[in-house]
Amino acid sequence: MTRPAEARVVTSPANPEIKRIRGLALRKKREEEKLFVAEGLRHVMEALEAGWPLETLVYQAEAAKRPKLAEALAATRAAGGLCLEVTEAVLAKMTKRDNPQMVVGVLPQRWQTLESLRPGKLWIALETVRDPGNLGTILRTADAVAADGVILIGETCDPYSPEAVRASMGSIVRVPLVRATPERFLAWRAGWPGLVVGTHLSGEADYREVAYDPPVLLLMGNEQAGLTEAAAAACDRLVRIPMAGGADSLNLSVATAVMLFEIARERLRLSP
Ligand code: SAM
Repeated sequence: MTRPAEARVVTSPANPEIKRIRGLALRKKREEEKLFVAEGLRHVMEALEAGWPLETLVYQAEAAKRPKLAEALAATRAAGGLCLEVTEAVLAKMTKRDNPQMVVGVLPQRWQTLESLRPGKLWIALETVRDPGNLGTILRTADAVAADGVILIGETCDPYSPEAVRASMGSIVRVPLVRATPERFLAWRAGWPGLVVGTHLSGEADYREVAYDPPVLLLMGNEQAGLTEAAAAACDRLVRIPMAGGADSLNLSVATAVMLFEIARERLRLSP
């Protein structure tokens, strides 16, 4: 098998580059280095297609047969990134998985600021979302309705954690992200040019009764506590999703999906 030019071969999990990438499992390290890990050739290619340069591309020799990997290697080298050929055991250690993907990419984190945010048609704001699976699923759904982005308010889980990235199924590279303290979010919200809709178990309107003229800012509450009073007070409308059975609420990502598809149905004219 021919090895792509300039790829370094690493067989030890104790290699410093591998240890550095393994360290990105910790939020602190991800934030210090402003990097995250995406697993799988498909997601690596999606990142490249979305214009994200790879800081490092790690792959198993067996994957080198795939034409897409040759593309990813060429793009990584052209952008000055590092290419590492490793064994399955190294990849398993790196991703903490028994059956690891054959390709792993290390990518830069990207954050927008509230000031640079363009309202567009639809933004989603999540108050102190805690569950990375919920957050990743929301990013995936936001991508599915072509939402403009997601604002993370307060102390939230990390969208760049392995769990959230996996749950986003590649959407992490297509959905712009902003983070803000509750105070800064509320101050910025005062200048929002359109409708601000909050979801609340005792919302005053059925979510299907509201006209979602863009731009819409959709506000979702925390998994346990729901919307804070301050956030609820900042909404133009508070809507509820009626429930018929015994459940007292919907899961956050499910409630977000119901809202996004209703808003999209009204205004975004989703193509089939
Ligand atoms: N115990 C929390 C409460 O009292 O709000 C439940 C929070 S719920 C699991 C998480 C978020 O999903 C809520 O803050 C709200 O944004 C949304 N949500 C869930 N079910 C909803 C419903 N039936 N109507 C409106 N929003 C809902």
